[in-house]
Amino acid sequence: MRKVKISERLLEKKRVKPTPTRILVAEELLKNNEAKSLQDMEEALPNADKVTIYRTIKTFLDNHIIHSVLLPDGQTKYALCEHAEHQHHVHPHFTCQKCGETHCLPETNIPLQDFPKNYKVSDVLLTLSGVCPKCSS
Ligand SMILES: [Zn+2]
Ligand SMILES: [Zn+2]
Repeated sequence: MRKVKISERLLEKKRVKPTPTRILVAEELLKNNEAKSLQDMEEALPNADKVTIYRTIKTFLDNHIIHSVLLPDGQTKYALCEHAEHQHHVHPHFTCQKCGETHCLPETNIPLQDFPKNYKVSDVLLTLSGVCPKCSS
């Protein structure tokens, strides 16, 4: 029996054809569970075509495999949606000022209490910055 990689299963679950570049990009995002920018991905996959990487990111976004993370400096990173069943992926992100790594904090709740009913929220962007556990030890 052929061993199916986690990255491949991830794509198949979303009915996205697991092409070699898609698998590589998914694997890159699985590493360390870290959010990566397009540039990070290009550097990590020097043999992959840049346009293909860009298109892969777009396909992943469209299929809710990944979500974008907007950083305070205006940079955009991408992270895998762990709880993909939840269409509304409301959780904060943490970016470390020392190592620059960005991680999802899916267990942290953002309470939106007493929010005016006439506003329809579709997205919440919240990025915290400081020192990550790895850098503070
Ligand atoms: Zn750090
Ligand atoms: Zn996230």
